[in-house]
Amino acid sequence: MEIHESESKSVRASGYSNEKGKFIILKGSFAVNDNQVQSSLSEKPKRVPLRKELITTGKMIDRGDKYEFVENVIFNSPSEAASIVWGSNLNGRKVFGLGEELLPSYKLYFEIDSTKAIEGYKKDHVLSISERDRKLVKARKEQDDFTCQACKVRIKINNKFVIECHHLNPISLGERETKIEDLISLCPTCHRIAHMREPMYSVTEVAEIKASNK
Ligand SMILES: [Zn+2]
Ligand SMILES: [Zn+2]
Repeated sequence: MEIHESESKSVRASGYSNEKGKFIILKGSFAVNDNQVQSSLSEKPKRVPLRKELITTGKMIDRGDKYEFVENVIFNSPSEAASIVWGSNLNGRKVFGLGEELLPSYKLYFEIDSTKAIEGYKKDHVLSISERDRKLVKARKEQDDFTCQACKVRIKINNKFVIECHHLNPISLGERETKIEDLISLCPTCHRIAHMREPMYSVTEVAEIKASNK
């Protein structure tokens, strides 16, 4: 947990953001007094009432020239926290030096035959379109000795290997040139499993799933 501190209008406040994107202002931080509150605070409808509520419930105590937080207070966002503290509509990430907003981490699970699972799986067939990519796929399979890199199965039927090529970074499909490191050889089962989640299961995760199902 990294503590971020900021000072402005002779008011200092510190806090941290949790994994849910909320921002916790720490006890001992200060907030501007009422006559320093700007009209921009009311641009977001909940902020003025929230500030009042923190005062009436005794979480922010009047110290004359400013308010003091006498307990930790959880805000919905760094911006909500900064706006309440300094009494105007502020970008909390900037104020507290939190850097760029991170993408929410999400995981979606699909059934084997769901459109989503099949869609991702089929996207890798883009690799069979251009001559260059076809050569790369061939090279990758040779490099992996036609062996599934998750479950290590190697199947040859009628002198042909049952092995597929999986693209590890599908965002780049069609956007920039595929590199051999973007590809990995997987058996059809492991390949289908890899696409049963978004973001895709990694090869290590697929291997673990396979191993735990034996
Ligand atoms: Zn496999
Ligand atoms: Zn794939």
